[in-house]
Formats: sequence, structure tokens, C-alpha cells
Amino acid sequence: MSESTVQIALVLPDLLGTYGDFGNAVVLEKRMNWRGIKAEIVPVMFGEPVPDSCDIYVVGGGEDTAQTLAVKHLREHPGLQRAVTKNAVVLGVCAGIQIFGESFTRADQITHPGMGLIDSTSHAGGSRAIGEVLATPANNLFEGVLTGFENHQGRTVLGPAAQPLAHVKVGTGNDGSVEGAVQGRIVCTYLHGPVLPRNPQLADLLIEWATGAKPAPLDLPAVTQLRNERQRAAS
Ligand code: GLN
Repeated sequence: MSESTVQIALVLPDLLGTYGDFGNAVVLEKRMNWRGIKAEIVPVMFGEPVPDSCDIYVVGGGEDTAQTLAVKHLREHPGLQRAVTKNAVVLGVCAGIQIFGESFTRADQITHPGMGLIDSTSHAGGSRAIGEVLATPANNLFEGVLTGFENHQGRTVLGPAAQPLAHVKVGTGNDGSVEGAVQGRIVCTYLHGPVLPRNPQLADLLIEWATGAKPAPLDLPAVTQLRNERQRAAS
């Protein structure tokens, strides 16, 4: 951690941030602040250098053109890649899972290099996957179910170095079977909502990794209510 304040980089919210994905950074900051842990959001805009000193990096979803611009910028300013070598915690949503991989082929069939952070490739599916998703966490990563909203053309194939985040019960995720990816301290998902307000147990896992300590339980009835409603909507 940098000077006892956990720094959360909100990466290119001007390009990547469909469905309010910036809310993932807000949830991380708030859940730490509520427990007396100092945390702050560091926005990193398109055209700016990408710092390698943050503790957590949050990347949201975006359309094909936006994600192509974003990956070009992130490859030219490889602060996030350097941060990963220093054990930073990373969350990538939708376009995030695609640009973190080795390559992605867009709906127009043009293939672009990714950032090579996770062992995966993405390609365009025959149809858009749109709707509520319900999935069960893989490898007992966290308790309960994972819920969210998906809207993507891309499909993602994981290589042996990447593990799925969850197994799909309702919806599509990466390929109709598995959802997201985990490789080291990088977590990827196709789920919006945003994903962390809807899945506080995943937010707390990222906080545990970033701070090195299991965060104290938080009793937030409004969050529990939202979670139950969304779970019912998906099942
Ligand atoms: N452009 C990508 C796709 O359609 C990602 C979409 C998103 O981030 N919502 O697959």
C-alpha cells in the first residue's frame, strides 16, 4: 500500500465504463472507508500516463471502438502491466476481460493484440449475449452466488494459466459454461451491474488481497436487499 492510503486506479473511465462500471471503484473505496481503512480513487484518463504505483486497478466495459483505443493507450503506457508484476490487484469488466488477454477479434473480424495479462483470447460470437447472469464461484473463491448483467458480442476462451471466476447457471458469460477469469490477483468478469455493488463478497476478496487482511464484516441492509432482488431476477 502507498503511504497507508489504498489507491484505486479508475482506468480510462472516459473510454471504458458502460453501465456505471466506475461504481466498482466507488464500492471498493466506500467499503474500505467504512472500516476505517484510508482509500482513494485515482482517475486515469485517456491520453494520460498510467501510474504503476496504485494498489488496485479497475477497468470497465466498452464498445469495440472504445476498447481498441483503450488497449492501444494501455500498451503504449504500460503502467498497469508493471503494477501487475508488483502484485497489484486488478478487476477487468467485459471489454476488460477481452483487452487483458493475448488478443481479441472484434465483430468486424479484425484481430487486435491484447495486454497479455491473462491467458485468454476473445472472438466475436454469433449473437450478442444480453441479460441477467447467475453463476456459482469457482474454487470456493467466495461465498454465495455471482450475479450481474451482461451485454457483449465477444466470447472468451481461457488457456491453462487462467482459471474461471465462476460456473454459469443462467446466461452466457465467457462461453455459456464458465464466467470470467482469475489469474494471480487479476479478476475478470463479463458482469455489469456494476458487479461489485451486486456482489460485495467479491469486493471484499479484492480488498483482502490489496490490504493483506480479511476485512471486518459489514451489515448493510440495503445491499442485502439489492442482492436478493437481483438474485431472484436472474433465477
Ligand atoms: N465490445 C465488447 C463486446 O461487445 C465488450 C462489450 C462491453 O464491454 N459491454 O463483446
